[in-house]
Amino acid sequence: MEKIQLLEECRDAKKIIISGHVRPDGDCVGSCLAMYLYLKKALPQAQVKVFLEEPSEVFACIAGYDAIDSSYTVDGEVDVFLALDCEKTRLGEAEELFASAKKRINIDHHVSNARGSGDINYVVPGCSSTAELVYGLFEKEYVDADIAKAIYIGMVHDTGVFSYSNTSPATLRTAAELIEYGFDFPAVIDKTFSEKTYAQNQLLGRALLESIIFMGGRCIVSAIDKKTLDFYNATSKDLEGIVSLLRTTKGVECAIFMYETGNLEYKVSLRSCKYVDVSKIAALFGGGGHVRAAGCTINGTFHDAVNNISKQIEFQLKQCEDMNA
Ligand code: AMP
Ligand code: MN
Repeated sequence: MEKIQLLEECRDAKKIIISGHVRPDGDCVGSCLAMYLYLKKALPQAQVKVFLEEPSEVFACIAGYDAIDSSYTVDGEVDVFLALDCEKTRLGEAEELFASAKKRINIDHHVSNARGSGDINYVVPGCSSTAELVYGLFEKEYVDADIAKAIYIGMVHDTGVFSYSNTSPATLRTAAELIEYGFDFPAVIDKTFSEKTYAQNQLLGRALLESIIFMGGRCIVSAIDKKTLDFYNATSKDLEGIVSLLRTTKGVECAIFMYETGNLEYKVSLRSCKYVDVSKIAALFGGGGHVRAAGCTINGTFHDAVNNISKQIEFQLKQCEDMNA
């Protein structure tokens, strides 16, 4: 998909809204705040707002964090709405505003949103992160250390500190360019990605301890129920990273992590190593994502969810074997 002329598209706008997906992660927060800082600088006459669900406090180190507005209220017409890191159906409370905006721009890297859901779309599924995409649209004269840091955080989170297969030579070149701006990048990785609270580590420990491997060791699954979440006074934000660690179990191709969100309702995270396209599986259950990382919500018991997902994993693994036979 061709690059868009971001500043040209926003030039005459009086009111610009930026938003991303529900349960915002590092890439979502990083790209939305980088966009916010950039547009405020490049188009000082425009009113720019960021609407997001309350992100994890670890992102408070990003400039503009305090400008995040979770009220989703706006006076008058929205000239440009920028939906970042998701398709319109994952905008949550912002979806209605998106629908009524005069110009809708969608920037994303999810393969499940390959066509885009705006009037103007820039979706590159191969790209590491929306942050990397957004940075590619910026005119460099406006980029400063705060903007570079926001972009870097987005990239760090979606690439697992440049370790996942979505990391390309261009990703690393961009990262190199960003750290030239001089922010404390080891601190950023430590504080926003690696550091866990005691409760978060306890939950991780339980998830690892109670995990089950099956399909001859090629799959691993673990779940956290509502009672346990309540015991630790934890939310979904405290479960980041568990599924990625499950995936690192030797011999495992596919990891499934879920947590109970309601009565017979689970939020499911899927990760794969080499063969299984988990975005396809998540899409079957109304979700989406990337080839190696995807998510969905499933109604039913833990066993229903595992049965239904594992059938799909088995199907894909069998197809791979058939192709290699
Ligand atoms: P998660 O397992 O929630 O960390 O999500 C993994 C990847 O899939 C992230 O890039 C998410 O943005 C994406 N994702 C998660 N849930 C959904 C969903 N319901 N629909 C589309 N994409 C999703
Ligand atoms: Mn992303």
